Amino acid sequence: MANKIPRVPVREQDPAVRATNFKEVCLGYSLEEATLEATRCLNCKNPRCVAACPVGIQIPNFIEALKGGDVKGASEIIAKDSSLPSICGRVCPQESQCEGSCILGIKGESVAIGKLERFVGDWHLNNPQSVELPAKNGRKVAVVGSGPAGLACASDLAKLGYEVTVFEALHEIGGVLVYGIPEFRLPKKGVVAKEIENVRALGVKFETDVIVGRTVTVDSLMDEEGFDAVFIGSGAGLPRFMGIEGENLNGVLSANEFLTRANLMRAYDEEYDTPIYVGKRVVVVGGGNVAMDAVRTAKRLGAEATIVYRRSEAELPARVEEVHHAKEEGIEFRMLTNPTRVLGDEKGWVVGINCLKMELGEPDASGRRSPVEVVGSDFEIACDVVIMALGTSPNPLIAATTEKLETSRRGCIVADEVGRTTRPGVFAGGDAVTGAATVILAMGAGRKAAAAIDEYLKK
Ligand SMILES: Cc1cc2nc3c(=O)[nH]c(=O)nc-3n(C[C@H](O)[C@H](O)[C@H](O)COP(=O)(O)OP(=O)(O)OC[C@H]3O[C@@H](n4cnc5c(N)ncnc54)[C@H](O)[C@@H]3O)c2cc1C
Repeated sequence: MANKIPRVPVREQDPAVRATNFKEVCLGYSLEEATLEATRCLNCKNPRCVAACPVGIQIPNFIEALKGGDVKGASEIIAKDSSLPSICGRVCPQESQCEGSCILGIKGESVAIGKLERFVGDWHLNNPQSVELPAKNGRKVAVVGSGPAGLACASDLAKLGYEVTVFEALHEIGGVLVYGIPEFRLPKKGVVAKEIENVRALGVKFETDVIVGRTVTVDSLMDEEGFDAVFIGSGAGLPRFMGIEGENLNGVLSANEFLTRANLMRAYDEEYDTPIYVGKRVVVVGGGNVAMDAVRTAKRLGAEATIVYRRSEAELPARVEEVHHAKEEGIEFRMLTNPTRVLGDEKGWVVGINCLKMELGEPDASGRRSPVEVVGSDFEIACDVVIMALGTSPNPLIAATTEKLETSRRGCIVADEVGRTTRPGVFAGGDAVTGAATVILAMGAGRKAAAAIDEYLKK
């Protein structure tokens, strides 16, 4: 029976070697491996994996095509629901979505849906198909931000005949895909740049170094520059800090700044002169994907790197795969530990971090058990750099400079399920609306908003 075949393991770089380089950790399936893994799928009548996919990819159908070696057919099936399969195949939290619902996972190992999606997505990037575009319909839409939400919205609108311009604050396109997620998880040249080229091939125009709210505003785009609608996909890039003593010392920085310097500004590349300081020992505070990316980057830049997290391992919000990879690479995990003060020398540089031990109490509103301080358990960890990876919220700039755009108390743009905001003609989606979330949710929001913009402009 098909489900007697064990899950086909995926090749990875050796942990000791990869902890010293920025090349991709996971090497992906070959055609033979992908076809074999595909044969494990039971092609369920009521596929729970489809229901668990935020964008509803017809997973058994694409896997069925793959079983017969029809990679092109598989790619066409995925393309109906996802515009970034190479990226989602690499970074989606499959263990809590499609793979987490796979029937084979109840008694054994689920089908490696993410790795199969990645295989098909990469095939598509290396075998681009020509797309027939409809004639332009004469309507103009502005997209703010070039992350997954903006890219997905722009692609769908271009396919419908709209003239789309994406305005991006940074000098490179891709949002977190280029400035946040490191090269060793998501290659920029081989994957992200190619996905962006596909969007460009649809006729989408990109204007970089344009800060909406400063260089132009949403109002001026609509009232003076002739855009019929605007989609805001500006993400949630404003980092949070703990508010503890010593947080303004030299050597304390947000994970966003650290990763931007390392990834986008190529501090990891010896040919670039980007300033970045890791010293001998780096402490990263937090337990999400961002914390894992920061700590693994610090390790690759030559530091001893430690995660400090106030709950236990069971509550770590990062993907299981990322925690597993971090451990394999020699990252130290200090669980149930909460920083209370950053310690500095007389010149204002970090020399350590003071922490308290914690224990788990009653569940909080999120359902996770709350950490409670163990009185008198103070201790110090010596370090040169402290990186805060405590979550982010949307930058208030766009909302502050746009008429009639309501935001929530957390600073998120208020929008309905298809992205309509309180300002007619202005739509929003992705992290700017939900707060920091995931690539697939941002992409799904961008696609829903594109359909809603089309409906709005057709009236
Ligand atoms: C380090 C890190 C690791 C992550 N790992 C994962 C993961 O493994 N899996 C996963 O699913 N998700 C992960 N995420 C979350 C995921 O990347 C985000 O949820 C997703 O990128 C949100 O997409 P977005 O398009 O809404 O915003 P973003 O990707 O943030 O893109 C927003 C874009 O808007 C631009 N912008 C902002 N303000 C303006 C302005 N005023 N004018 C013009 N442009 C502007 C920004 O420069 C940016 O390019 C990670 C996030 C980080 C930071």
